[in-house]
Amino acid sequence: MNRFPAYISLDDRPVLIIGGGASALAKARLMVTAGATLTVIGEKLSRETKSALKGKARLIERAPVVADIEASVLVFIAEGANDQVERWVEAARIAGVLVNVVDRPEYCDFTTPSIIDRGRVTISISTDGAAPVLGRKLRADIEALLPSKVGSLADFADQYRDAVKSKINESERRQFWERFFEGPIAAQVLTGDEAGAHEAMLALINRPASEAREGVVHIVGAGPGDPDLLTIKALRLLQRADVILYDRLVSDDILALARRDAERFYVGKAKANHAVPQDEIEARLVAFAREGKMVVRLKGGDPFIFGRGGEELETVRAAGIPVFTTPGITAAAGCAAAANMALTHRDHSQAVTFVTGHAKGEGEPDLDWSALAALKNTLVVYMGVSKADSIGAKLIAHGREASTPVAVIEKGTRADQKIIKGTLGQLGQLIDAGSVIGPALLVIGEVAALADGETLLAIAQKERLVA
Ligand code: SAH
Repeated sequence: MNRFPAYISLDDRPVLIIGGGASALAKARLMVTAGATLTVIGEKLSRETKSALKGKARLIERAPVVADIEASVLVFIAEGANDQVERWVEAARIAGVLVNVVDRPEYCDFTTPSIIDRGRVTISISTDGAAPVLGRKLRADIEALLPSKVGSLADFADQYRDAVKSKINESERRQFWERFFEGPIAAQVLTGDEAGAHEAMLALINRPASEAREGVVHIVGAGPGDPDLLTIKALRLLQRADVILYDRLVSDDILALARRDAERFYVGKAKANHAVPQDEIEARLVAFAREGKMVVRLKGGDPFIFGRGGEELETVRAAGIPVFTTPGITAAAGCAAAANMALTHRDHSQAVTFVTGHAKGEGEPDLDWSALAALKNTLVVYMGVSKADSIGAKLIAHGREASTPVAVIEKGTRADQKIIKGTLGQLGQLIDAGSVIGPALLVIGEVAALADGETLLAIAQKERLVA
C-alpha cells in the first residue's frame, strides 16, 4: 500500500480548484457532490465551467495567488505552466494544505480514486496511478455486484442501530447483523418494500432470543446455459446462498459461480425420472429455510416458464416463509439469440406462443391443436423432442402447411449448441438426422427460415464426406 485510503468530510470546508477547463470541471463536480465549499480560479474559465458551476461554486477569473491556496484545506491544480505549478505546490506544502496535481502523481499529496457512490455506501479503488483503466474496470465489476439499493440498506440499518444495541447483547450483535444482511428483511429493502421491511424489523428485534432465526427462499432463474446470461441479481444471490437446490439444466459453469461453501443439492429432472420428486423438493426448500438458511432454488431458464416455479412458490409461501423470485432468460429467448432469429418479426410473425410438448402422464400433450395450427405465427415447443414427429403430424393434420419452416435448437447458448433447419413435414427427420437428444426447442413458423443452422441436405453431405 503506497497511499492510505481515508474518507474526508468536506462538508462546508474550503476547497480550491485551479483551472478553468474540462479537467478542472470534472474535479469541481466531484467536490460539489462531496459538499465542499468550492472556489474555482483560472485566468480563463470556460463557458461550460461557468454554466455548470453557477450557484454551486465561487468562480474567479484571474491567476491564483498564495493567499487563495492558504485559505483551503485541499487544492486541485488542473492547469498551469510547470514553473507556476511548482510554485503553487510549494505554497501548499508550506501552508500544510494537501495538493493534487492532475496527471502529475509525483506532485500529489493525495489522489482521487475510482468511486462507486451508492449514498452512504461508497467504495473507492486506487491503483496508485499505475493503471487507471484497470481501476475503472474493477469499478465496473464491483458495481455489477452491488444491489442498486445498497445505500438504502445502509440507511435502513442505521435507523435500527440504537434499537438493536439496546435489545441484543453485545456478544450476539454481530451475528444478528450478519443474519440481517443475508435475510428476508434486507431482501425486502433491496426490492424497495421499505414499509414491509420496517414492520418485519420491529417484529424481529422484539422477538424472544430463543426463537430460531428466519430463513428465506429465493427462486432463481439460471438462464439457458451460458453463464454470461445470468442476471446480475441471480449472480449476487448465488454468491450469498447457504444452500442451493439445482436442476439438471443448470450448467456446471453456473454452479462454479456460487459461494464456495454453499451446500449444493442436485434435484435434477430428466423427464419422468425425477431424481427427487417435486413434493420432496418443495419439502426440502421449506425445511432448509426453517433451519434459518438462505436457500436458492436454481432453475433452468425462467422459473415461471415450464419450470414449476409457481408450485414451489405457493408451497413455500403457504409454510409462512418469505420467498422471492428472480427471473431468468427463458430458453426461447436464449435460443432465438443463439440462432440469430427473431421470434416475432414485423414481416413474418406478429405473435409467439410457448407450449410444452410434455404430457402429464404417458400419452400426448393436452393441447388445442386446431387453435395452434390456425395461429400462423411463431410456435415454440419446449420439451418436444421425443414427440416431435407426432407434433409435426398433428399441426399438419389441423391445417398448418407442411412447408412451414422449423428450427430445432439443441443446447442453445452453450458451447456445444446445435441448430438444424427444415420444414414442419420434416420435423421428425430433423431430430433423427441431427441426433438431437435435448434439451432442445422446436421453433415453428416463418421466422425459423431466418435462423442460422444446418439443413438436412447439409447434414447428409457432411455425413457423406465423413463416410
Ligand atoms: N424454465 C425453463 C424451461 C424448463 S422445461 C426455461 O424457461 O427455459 C425444459 C425444456 O426447456 C427443455 O426440454 C427444452 O425444451 C428447453 N430448454 C432449456 N434449456 C434449453 C437450451 N439451452 N436449449 C434448448 N432448449 C432448452
